[in-house]
Amino acid sequence: MPGTLSFDDLKSRVTDGSIDTVLACFPDMQGRLMGKRFHAVNFVETSFKETHCCNYLLATDLEMATPDGYAASSWQGGYGDYVMQPDLDTIRPVPWLEGTAMVLCDILDHHTHAEVPHSPRAMLKKQIARLKALGFDAMMATELEFFLFEKSFDDIRKSGFRDMAPISGYNEDYHIFQTTKEEGVMRPIRNHLYAAGLPIENTKGEAEAGQEELNIRYSEALLCADHHTIAKNAIKEIAWAQGHAATFLPKWHHDRVGSSSHVHQSLWQDGTPVFVDDADPLGMSELMKNYMAGLIAYAPDYTFFLAPYINSYKRFAKGTFAPTKTVWSVDNRTAGFRLCGERTKGVRVECRIGGSDLNPYLAQAAMLAAGIKGIEDKMPLPAPTTGDVYEDAKAADIPQTLRAATQTLRDSAMLRAAMGDDVVDHYTRCAEWEQEEFDRIVTDWEVARGFERA
Ligand code: ADP
Repeated sequence: MPGTLSFDDLKSRVTDGSIDTVLACFPDMQGRLMGKRFHAVNFVETSFKETHCCNYLLATDLEMATPDGYAASSWQGGYGDYVMQPDLDTIRPVPWLEGTAMVLCDILDHHTHAEVPHSPRAMLKKQIARLKALGFDAMMATELEFFLFEKSFDDIRKSGFRDMAPISGYNEDYHIFQTTKEEGVMRPIRNHLYAAGLPIENTKGEAEAGQEELNIRYSEALLCADHHTIAKNAIKEIAWAQGHAATFLPKWHHDRVGSSSHVHQSLWQDGTPVFVDDADPLGMSELMKNYMAGLIAYAPDYTFFLAPYINSYKRFAKGTFAPTKTVWSVDNRTAGFRLCGERTKGVRVECRIGGSDLNPYLAQAAMLAAGIKGIEDKMPLPAPTTGDVYEDAKAADIPQTLRAATQTLRDSAMLRAAMGDDVVDHYTRCAEWEQEEFDRIVTDWEVARGFERA
């Protein structure tokens, strides 16, 4: 399959005129691609070494506001520069944009050139290195669910987010005929991403009108997060180019099913899966059990990284396939963690808590930190749950609100030890700000409910 381009490949494509633009970008706290568009000649002559961006890009919200309370970036500190250092192993064509290639950058301190600890790529690399020190590599796959709409982003925004018809009229879960009607958008998504070097497995209709899922083959954790981020951006760009909106908002309407990003995880050593033990009734190794025990026990600590907005928590509803409990089960979609591929080489754990709005670097970093803690402490795995886990009163709840998840993040000794106090404080501030903004706003719902009758 096609892959990334070497720097020499890029140079020859610039020389032969087939590439004239290079996007140098990095994932921000929200998992968006931020950066600059270079004339390709400038990029291959000088900017491939480094470029710069304002340091507020790792301390802003979705609206590009400049909240106070961040130690790393502030008006007081003058909002100086970060270095964006292109990771030349990530150069790839962007086939859905004319004459364009892309490179992902690492974010470095302007003065010391050390990686900025709260940059999402650095956070994931740190946990990958900790796991490597124990002798293991993480293989991950993040599913991308989203909704396609009939109209464009602009039309929907101009309607005040009122005129929102999904691209299909009925639940299209696994539906071939309905998804055939959407091939005008979905086929280019699969093929362009494949041509950009992403190992696309499939797309399918999901369990709501207009809901889609993209699956990318599992890979080493950093690559998985890169793939997810590039794919999410591409889906929006390809849908936009055809006059449609694609949203990763987890719950765009209270009566519609939400969108998830389930994360499949397994550990490997020297290219061999080490979650496997043929002697175990479910084929799970002791290592896998310890890892899963950590994942489950610390789920409240890292829920913020799987559900970072107010809206994220609207998804956790009974009977919707979105979980509400931090327990595990064998191939049962009502629990927070599902054992997949039991008694096979592909045995793995799927975390079902994350919404489609998660930042894959942060989600994977936090889950690796929890799993590593489980391994280090040889944590025992509780027995699996069975049946309808939504109704299991004994099972622990996922934090139900952003406010609750902010508190469990702030108080997490595990994440503080694994990521550093500065990093946890930074993201706690991010979570607090989101809550503060919401608390300040009068919503349509409360006006309609109380205007006349209160
Ligand atoms: P389902 O359709 O039940 O959600 P799939 O069999 O399609 O599950 O697999 C879901 C995802 O799991 C795929 O993207 C696949 O690449 C990934 N996956 C398969 N094996 C592993 C593994 N050993 N480790 C991590 N992810 C894996």
